[in-house]
Amino acid sequence: TRQARVLVIGEILVEIMATTPGHGFRQALDLRGPFPSGAPAIFADQLARQGVPVALVSCVGDDDFGRLNLDRLREAGVDTGAIRVHPTAVTGSAFVRYRPEGGRDFFFNIADSACGRIARDAASDAVVEGATHLHVMGSSLSTPAIVELVLDALTRIKAKGGTVSFDPNIRPELLGHGDMRATLDRVLDATDLFLPSEGEAAMFAGTPDDVSALPVLFGRGVRAVAMKLGTRGSRLVSPEEDVSMPGFVVREVDPTGAGDTFGATFLAAWLGGLPAREALARANAAGALAVTRLGPMEGASDPARIDAFLAAQRNV
Ligand code: ATP
Ligand code: MG
Repeated sequence: TRQARVLVIGEILVEIMATTPGHGFRQALDLRGPFPSGAPAIFADQLARQGVPVALVSCVGDDDFGRLNLDRLREAGVDTGAIRVHPTAVTGSAFVRYRPEGGRDFFFNIADSACGRIARDAASDAVVEGATHLHVMGSSLSTPAIVELVLDALTRIKAKGGTVSFDPNIRPELLGHGDMRATLDRVLDATDLFLPSEGEAAMFAGTPDDVSALPVLFGRGVRAVAMKLGTRGSRLVSPEEDVSMPGFVVREVDPTGAGDTFGATFLAAWLGGLPAREALARANAAGALAVTRLGPMEGASDPARIDAFLAAQRNV
């Protein structure tokens, strides 16, 4: 079979994190960053590192935050031809602070940044035309300009027999924006591979728990659900199989980006037709490696790094 060509549409951000745990940003804090970020960008970066051709449609400002990200994505091998450099809008940003009891507070500048100016143009049309697979990040759908492009690409890629993966990636801070729920449902109805975190499958299916959500999702046309279970690892369920894979034990430094890194590694394996056990093991390894480094993309891994990690684990 011909190699898949993946399209991702969404925000590019810098991430700046508080170095001390606490609640929010209402006093002066020590901060660390900027780190290249944005869920779609983290995903595209890791996918390119797996050797899968991937284009990112996005928009950055004509500023150092934009240049930092473009340099990073090019180095990873992402097709950046459809990333517009906006002459006046600034690159998006996210400030993050970890809460002492777990969880995170985010402070986003997305919709009113360059990301909010993402627009259909000749370059985005060309990459939609060339794509055989679309990956959708739910977190991107709170920006109206991105919704329009995603729904257009979804229709065009499905019409030519392409496939769709969907990571809902819902942050409470991003919910409650207009008809976001209707958009999420449209995306889910086109989804082949669903990549929820805990509780998200139930949220979409309207069931009390994730396990009872599965038949509902399959009934809506989803072919496989790869559930991300944090430190407990992951589980792939389809009408044909149900495979659980425990997580690897590592020292967690920064959990941001683990889900996106897991998703990209899993998608590369899924598109390549790897057996479920191998796909889950590789994705768990990539997720584990991701959390060992400060910064959303700093723990990215290529196949050789994943192989070495898996080999070292077997020898424990
Ligand atoms: P995010 O919060 O970035 O959106 P997520 O909730 O989508 O992440 P997680 O389940 O937190 O996704 O992480 C994805 C995968 O990364 C997990 O399924 C697991 O394989 C791995 N992982 C995450 N955290 C850890 C950890 N502390 N130790 C080992 N592996 C981890
Ligand atoms: Mg998580």
